[in-house]
Amino acid sequence: MAEKKFIKVRKIKGKFIKIKCPDCNSEQVTFVKASSHVNCSVCGAKLAEPTGGNVAISGEIVGEI
Ligand SMILES: [Zn+2]
Repeated sequence: MAEKKFIKVRKIKGKFIKIKCPDCNSEQVTFVKASSHVNCSVCGAKLAEPTGGNVAISGEIVGEI
């Protein structure tokens, strides 16, 4: 599997973000300042990793909550 590029989330209005999994297109909600890795609940792909501030994500943000 190719190495994914993780991009830190910029300032957002909400506390949670909805991420679209790049592998299976399912959507998952996660805390924007999550302190642990976030894996897709469907396929297990790593969607987000902690940075100390906002998480860095590999998918696409499709919503803010
Ligand atoms: Zn997935």
